[in-house]
Amino acid sequence: MVLDPPNPPQRSFEIVARQIAAMVRARYDIGQKLPGERELAKSFGVSRPTIREAILSLAMAGMVRVRNNSGAYVVSRHEAPDVDTLEGFGPFENLRARHLVEPQIAGIAAQRASESIIAKLADSLAAMRWEHAQGRESDQADHRFHILLAEATGNGVLVSICDQLWRGQIESRIWREIHTRMRMEDYRPTWLKDHEDIYAAVVEHNPRRSSAAMVRHLTHIEEALMTASHSKVLARQATTEGVTAP
Ligand SMILES: [Zn+2]
Repeated sequence: MVLDPPNPPQRSFEIVARQIAAMVRARYDIGQKLPGERELAKSFGVSRPTIREAILSLAMAGMVRVRNNSGAYVVSRHEAPDVDTLEGFGPFENLRARHLVEPQIAGIAAQRASESIIAKLADSLAAMRWEHAQGRESDQADHRFHILLAEATGNGVLVSICDQLWRGQIESRIWREIHTRMRMEDYRPTWLKDHEDIYAAVVEHNPRRSSAAMVRHLTHIEEALMTASHSKVLARQATTEGVTAP
């Protein structure tokens, strides 16, 4: 029996952005400040990263503007904001999914990695180091590193899921918005060390250490995204229409 395809998955940021937009239209005037992130998280029963994504999506859709260190202000309350046209999932939602899957993959990879996979992991680490030394991004080597770990499990479904999680990150419009504000030189050394720790654990076939190193890596990425999407940073780096203060 072939099942009907499921409805397209609902994105957390979009659901919450619509709720915030409805609240704005019901109770807020142009120029009024929205409640803080913590308060919004409490009233909508979601995490602060989800509120962060929702506010960013509303800023990108032109409904609010983030001002220096003071939060989000209403700039339009006329139409339903166009958050549905933003491509991809929110980066924090995607990272939560990675947190559920990739530490397990890293653990199994440490148990099962062959000499040939370990050599390929070493190659991709070398490529990352080289690119960092040139002051460049190492997206391809990073992607390859994570896919190799999934390949080490010997399970093709996990390889496909891992690849999808990666694409979910780089194809996210909100991720790209935040990424333009990240000073990558601040993060490269930490991220390189994270990959080196995972690699060392795989070499010594230590699943617990490998899983823990992956948890740390994903936590570092999430912290970097939270810092780069803070209102102080958004307002200081006034480069994108709609998100920043005039
Ligand atoms: Zn990575």
